Amino acid sequence: MKVTKAEIVISAVSKKQYPSDLIPEIALAGRSNVGKSSFINKMINRKSLARTSSKPGKTQTLNFYKINDVFHFVDVPGYGYAKVSKTEREAWGKMLEEYFVERDNLSAAALVVDLRHKPTADDITMYNFLKHYELPIIVIATKLDKIAKNKRESHVQQTRKTLGLAPEDIVVPFSSETGEGKDKAWKAIEQFI
Ligand code: GDP
Repeated sequence: MKVTKAEIVISAVSKKQYPSDLIPEIALAGRSNVGKSSFINKMINRKSLARTSSKPGKTQTLNFYKINDVFHFVDVPGYGYAKVSKTEREAWGKMLEEYFVERDNLSAAALVVDLRHKPTADDITMYNFLKHYELPIIVIATKLDKIAKNKRESHVQQTRKTLGLAPEDIVVPFSSETGEGKDKAWKAIEQFI
């Protein structure tokens, strides 16, 4: 997809604030600092529309980005920060559940993981959570540029195996630094919009 228009619609904390515009939505989930904002920015050719390095303690919001007036990327707050309190974690869980349960126009989820490392226990939990909602899942395995070419395939297999991916789930090796994987990521997403 050639992105000619990308804008933030709203940072929502509750369903009352979700856009009334029911165009298809692609939710983006991932561990904090995994490279989710960099992924969004690379996909839409913008340097910093999606905030990078969001720190814990800030209000956790669902950020809706409208792309080419045809679909929304919905940036879900990251997980896996050790310092987050129990209350914050519960609020986060509630917000996610409300969104995933209520949103009928949600058509697929992209789970961003770090291709360098085995997916974490939190990544596995998030994958299972998304599967529970019967969503098609595209795994974006980012930081591809950090892995030698001859090791990439084994890292992809490690990711598939650790997450316990179903055969229909797609893995896209990706680099926000070089743009590798961008066409493949768009092809995967375009099936659902
Ligand atoms: P977020 O918290 O998931 O939104 O993560 P960010 O997008 O802020 O990225 C966290 C850090 O990882 C930043 O320093 C990015 O520059 C870096 N980063 C993200 N994606 C890549 C990538 O594909 N390759 C490399 N080398 N660094 C990346």
